[in-house]
Amino acid sequence: MEQRTECARCSRTVCERGKTELALPACPTARRPDVLKKGLSKSLRADLKEFACQAAIQQFDSSLRLPRGRIPRSTRIEETIQFAKKMHYKRLGLAFCSALRNESMLVDRILQRHGFEVVSVCCKVGGVSKDAIGVADEHKFGGTGSYEVMCNPVTQAEIMNDEGTEFNIVIGLCVGHDSLFLKHADAMSTVLIAKDKVLGHNPAAALRLSGSYYKELMQNQSNGTR
Ligand code: SF4
Repeated sequence: MEQRTECARCSRTVCERGKTELALPACPTARRPDVLKKGLSKSLRADLKEFACQAAIQQFDSSLRLPRGRIPRSTRIEETIQFAKKMHYKRLGLAFCSALRNESMLVDRILQRHGFEVVSVCCKVGGVSKDAIGVADEHKFGGTGSYEVMCNPVTQAEIMNDEGTEFNIVIGLCVGHDSLFLKHADAMSTVLIAKDKVLGHNPAAALRLSGSYYKELMQNQSNGTR
C-alpha cells in the first residue's frame, strides 16, 4: 500500500484550486489517479449523478451572495426539505432515537406541512431485549435481571425499505446504531441531528473547546483504554 491519505493534516488544499504541483506526498488528488477515476465514474452513474448534482445545487442555494460576501441562508432542517423537494421525493423516512421523540414529532409535523408522506420508526421498534444481542447485565442501565429493550437500527432500516421510503432522515441515533441504520437502509439517508447527550446534540462544540474545557481530548492517551 502506498502512503496513506492524510487530507486532515493538509493546509495546501491544492485540490480546491485545481493545482497539484504543490501537493504533499500523501495527497490523493496528486497521487491516486486510479482511485480518483473509479470514484468519479461511480458519481457519474445514472443513479448517483442527479443526486450529486442536486446536492451541489443545494449547497449553492444555502448561501446568499451579497456584495460583502456569502452569508448562510438555510438551516439544516430547511436544507433537508429543500433538497428533498429538488429530488421530487414524496415519501420520507424518519429514523429517530426515542430520547428525541419531541424533536421527531416536530420534524414529522414540519415535513407533513411541506407536503411529504412521512414514515417514522423509533429506535426501540420490536421491543427486543438486549439479551438477544448478548448485552450482559453489567451493561444494562437497570442492572441485574432487568428487561431492557435494545435499539434496533437494522430493523428500523428494514421497515423503511419495506415501506418504500425514498430518502431517510436520521434523528439522534447513537454512535454505532447510526452506522447500522445507514448501512442497511436501501434509500439514501441524511443526518439531521447527531446525538451528543452532553452538548445538546452539537458535537462540534467539544472540538471548538478542545483548547480549553475539553483539552483532555488533545492529550496523548494512546495507551489508555478510553
Ligand atoms: S486532496 Fe490533497 S490538497 Fe486536497 S486536502 Fe487532501 S492532501 Fe490536501
